[in-house]
Amino acid sequence: MTTIAVLGGGQLGRMLGGAGIPLGVRFRFLDPVAGAPASAVGPLVVGALDDERAIAEVVDGATVVTYEWEGVPAPAARFADERVRVLPAPNALDVSQDRLREKELFGAVGVATAPFRPVDSAADLRRAAAELGYPSILKTRRGGYDGKGQVRLDDDSQLDAAWAVIGARPSILEAVVAFDRELSVLSVRGHDGDTRHWPLVENHHVDGILRTSRAPAPDLTAALQDAAEDLARRVLDHLDYVGVLAIELFCVGGALLANEMAPRVHNSGHWTIEGAVTSQFENHLRAVLGWPLGSTAARGHSVMLNVIGVMPDRAVVLAIDGAHLHDYGKTARPGRKLGHVTIVDIDPASVEARVTAARALLEPI
Ligand code: AMP
Repeated sequence: MTTIAVLGGGQLGRMLGGAGIPLGVRFRFLDPVAGAPASAVGPLVVGALDDERAIAEVVDGATVVTYEWEGVPAPAARFADERVRVLPAPNALDVSQDRLREKELFGAVGVATAPFRPVDSAADLRRAAAELGYPSILKTRRGGYDGKGQVRLDDDSQLDAAWAVIGARPSILEAVVAFDRELSVLSVRGHDGDTRHWPLVENHHVDGILRTSRAPAPDLTAALQDAAEDLARRVLDHLDYVGVLAIELFCVGGALLANEMAPRVHNSGHWTIEGAVTSQFENHLRAVLGWPLGSTAARGHSVMLNVIGVMPDRAVVLAIDGAHLHDYGKTARPGRKLGHVTIVDIDPASVEARVTAARALLEPI
């Protein structure tokens, strides 16, 4: 019996289960919340992600352990790894949980980023701002996601307040990039180093939260895809990574700058469930289990819309031709990701017409 223990039991765990069950894979999850989304696809051990007793229970007898949340404490992942192999290896968590280490890793492997400076004090911040200029963004090294733990700076008068707002915590200051668009590259690497990449995805955020992904990114050129694959491969090989890795990118005048990475399946890859030959979820499982990877080719043009805060009427969404609704089974709360809708077609214009209809349901004015 192939059983995967997953640290974290949110929607990503639920979708991993959805991909693995047809392959005969069983799942067990660890999550602090009883009834978390993944409990629909496997038994859930309720406990904190750093609770050693709960970790030992969830990994006991598993074939392999993976995680669906990059906030899993690295020591907890190491504790699990002493019992059953954890993939991606916990070193990916060390890097992705710390914006400074992440940026330094990108630099070490020759991947460009926005100019940045480490900031550990108000004096550092003043110096960094003088060097980088304005506008710039102060981001805490740890704990920030979906635009949280960030303050934009437009002039010297805001420095002290910004330092206070982020709680005087170890941070980085980053120059604001006047990007043309935001993209992400999703890649999967197997035990044997076999690496595949899905077509680049174009992402639109509102208030720091992903709203829409288009794949393949409109006007995607072979040169841009090659550049993204090259940078992803450098990171994957450096970490000797196994599993799916997402890297968020800024596209500036045809060049790519890495913003951050997530060592897990990613929201900007949800379109692959219906829109690619093999989904990110299935390929992640194949990778961590040491099975052959599947094709990452797109089946057409996909648009994925996140459902944020309020679940729309299911019947009305499903009445849109070809709309695939995913309901994560979560309690509605403002700003919360509750589900997503994907529309795939070989004709991009036809997709966009239906996206307009779907958006009217998801974001009523
Ligand atoms: P992050 O938490 O780093 O993913 O940032 C959330 C969002 O803020 C990104 O998706 C961008 O839209 C924006 N952002 C972050 N850093 C920068 C930057 N250096 N320049 C411009 N926009 C940024």
